[in-house]
Amino acid sequence: MRALVKTGAHAGLEMMDVPEPPCGSLDVKVRVLRAGLCGTDLHIQDWDDWAASTLEPPLIVGHEFYGEVVEVGEDVPETAVRVGDRISAEGHIVCGHCRNCRAGRRHLCINTIGVGVNRDGAFADYVVIPAMNAYVQPEGMDPDLAAIFDPYGNATHTALQWPMVGEDVLITGAGPIGVIAVAIARHAGARNIVATDISDFRLDLAKGAGADLVVNTAHTRIRDAQRELGMREGFDIALEMSGAPSAVQELIDNMNHGGRVALLGLPKTEYPVNWGKVITHMLTIKGIYGREMFESWYAMGAMLQTSPELTRAVSSVITHRVPAAEWAHAFDIARSGQCGKVVMNWED
Ligand code: ZN
Repeated sequence: MRALVKTGAHAGLEMMDVPEPPCGSLDVKVRVLRAGLCGTDLHIQDWDDWAASTLEPPLIVGHEFYGEVVEVGEDVPETAVRVGDRISAEGHIVCGHCRNCRAGRRHLCINTIGVGVNRDGAFADYVVIPAMNAYVQPEGMDPDLAAIFDPYGNATHTALQWPMVGEDVLITGAGPIGVIAVAIARHAGARNIVATDISDFRLDLAKGAGADLVVNTAHTRIRDAQRELGMREGFDIALEMSGAPSAVQELIDNMNHGGRVALLGLPKTEYPVNWGKVITHMLTIKGIYGREMFESWYAMGAMLQTSPELTRAVSSVITHRVPAAEWAHAFDIARSGQCGKVVMNWED
């Protein structure tokens, strides 16, 4: 089968012919139909410090995908997933025996393994995952939309941390996850939604997904946005999706007292924070990683099922669809910043 492989401890990726993966007794084997590109995949292609300290090549990369189940392990319960089902997949594989796993808090597992990071991934004609990680999609599901359930799940997990009804919400970073978070905040009843970024292309996507106001922080301040919207006290909820220290610092300066902040964007390095303000303004700051297994997934499916408007807004982040054979072009687009989500088609 074709597979996009990190062959060794150096920059680059190679499309090559490799054996199909065997399906274990508790696994499903999936024919990949679509796969989304993530920032993680770019780090792996670059072989930056994070990739060098995390990956053990050779490895097939990719973790956002949608496909058709072609084989089911003999010990998988018949009711769970069947041959012919079309699935998205939770890319975090958990141990099942640590304290959090045993308590049902799988997203907090201390032994999490990442598909396409710690084991072979989905930029290939076939991928094998534990049946437990398969999320069966309804018939008629748009394959491209189904391929981005991983980032849609990040956005859902972050945006649904606290009730949003009537709240003023700040979303820093308008990459695909930030844009989807805008759509979810709108769906969940927020009052004012302000999105920031330094790319006008991405800010346009955020506007299209339902942001009341977008702020290019290269030249405009969030404080001015508050004034323009007639806000007097600051944001009630903030979702940090950029990982940029400057964004976090400006965010903290714009929160109302008692505001709540969910941090999803991963910073490259440590950075200073005005802890005095966090303390005296009694801010709540919470780190978010991955998706809640599988509460985020149920919310994701249910929200799409009940809201054509949300479905349209989430789909709008997919700006490029590229055949898998042109994978290098897909990576170049993803790197350009002039895009939302890039989805590769593995059917062709
Ligand atoms: Zn665990």
